[in-house]
Amino acid sequence: MRRNSCVVVGAGIAGVMTALHLQRRGEQVTLIDRWEPGHARAASTDYNRVIRAISGRDEFYTRWARESRAMWLEMQAESGQNLMYECGALILATEGHCDWEDSTAETFDKVGVPYYKFTPDEVRARFPQFKVDEIKYALFEPEAGLLMAHRCVITALKMFKDAGGVVKRGTVTTDTQERPLLDGQPIRADLIVIATGAWMSEMFPKTIKTISAIMGINVLYTSTPDGSDAFDMENMPCWIDHGQGSFGIPSSEGSGVKAAVVIPNTPIDINNDERLIEKASLAKTRTYIRHRLPGLIGQRVVDSKFNQVILTPDTHFIVDWHPVHENVLFAGGCSGHLFKHGPVFGNFVAGVATRDYGTADRFKIANRRKLSPKESPSGR
Ligand SMILES: Cc1cc2nc3c(=O)[nH]c(=O)nc-3n(C[C@H](O)[C@H](O)[C@H](O)COP(=O)(O)OP(=O)(O)OC[C@H]3O[C@@H](n4cnc5c(N)ncnc54)[C@H](O)[C@@H]3O)c2cc1C
Repeated sequence: MRRNSCVVVGAGIAGVMTALHLQRRGEQVTLIDRWEPGHARAASTDYNRVIRAISGRDEFYTRWARESRAMWLEMQAESGQNLMYECGALILATEGHCDWEDSTAETFDKVGVPYYKFTPDEVRARFPQFKVDEIKYALFEPEAGLLMAHRCVITALKMFKDAGGVVKRGTVTTDTQERPLLDGQPIRADLIVIATGAWMSEMFPKTIKTISAIMGINVLYTSTPDGSDAFDMENMPCWIDHGQGSFGIPSSEGSGVKAAVVIPNTPIDINNDERLIEKASLAKTRTYIRHRLPGLIGQRVVDSKFNQVILTPDTHFIVDWHPVHENVLFAGGCSGHLFKHGPVFGNFVAGVATRDYGTADRFKIANRRKLSPKESPSGR
């Protein structure tokens, strides 16, 4: 049954993909954001994001990432935009810290994800950019890669508009009962999807704040050596380096190398902070580069992002109805890994929204618990 009115609030990757899939299912959708879609405060806006099936023993996200990869490639073919580059992803398994990597290989075998297991010498031969002295082995997922994040959001937004969707500017607030309001008035719609990323927490203090935390992440882009293409995505994969609390992306379309060193529990005021990187992050990144990527020693920071993630205790997304307002559906809970799943996530949320099926147990608001690093899809 077509609803008379569907509103999606938030035009990050979660909202824009949900709006697109609802519109393509025959609904008439209005997508509202308080700022211009693609703005730099949204978690979805950066040059690039990693897409990989690597998820430890979690088969669910492994399969979702594979499905998403196919959907991103379809969107790329349909739009003619370069959305994804298949440069592969390398997980470095540090001696004494290999549980998550071991279980990723088991899951890959089960699900049928192509991968290679490299010895340190094989890594040195294939990817000499990495110094791997304390590495026991590495897994290489050749069909992983990077998504041009900002372009992905803008392309999905265009597809949504081309399908007849309406985009509006406005700030949605809530009253004491957590009813969504626009311009101080309750939003009258058959369906309201809330996809406001980390802002979901302050908008829904009773329902979402209680099951989430917000953390800041600094990422730095480093220049590449003069005259060298060794650190370009054609020659270097994305990587995950749990032993060092780091991950990264090779230089893509001139971005520079993104070496992200996560400093746990970095506070962020998502409304008021200047989005400038912290000195501690710069120092940590330089130390990391000296340790892992010696070819970048002496290179300079050319760009940076200070952005946020909203973390649920179990790092599972939130796709569930408001406990009181039965037309209000939450879609988010990024937990640091939602971008890659964007197309599958949006399609799934659209089906829950139209009540074609219920949500998955893992996405329900109730019964959240902290997972051990072994159980967690991120291994943290
Ligand atoms: C540094 C960093 C690296 C990451 N790396 C990866 C990665 O490699 N791979 C991966 O898959 N994921 C990664 N992630 C996670 C991924 O980027 C996020 O999970 C995803 O972008 C979250 O999207 P979202 O749509 O939920 O939120 P957002 O992108 O933040 O979008 C929320 C939108 O809601 C709007 N909004 C907020 N409040 C209101 C309101 N009151 N009214 C109207 N509109 C409102 C905002 O303006 C914004 O546009 C990373 C995240 C960070 C920060």
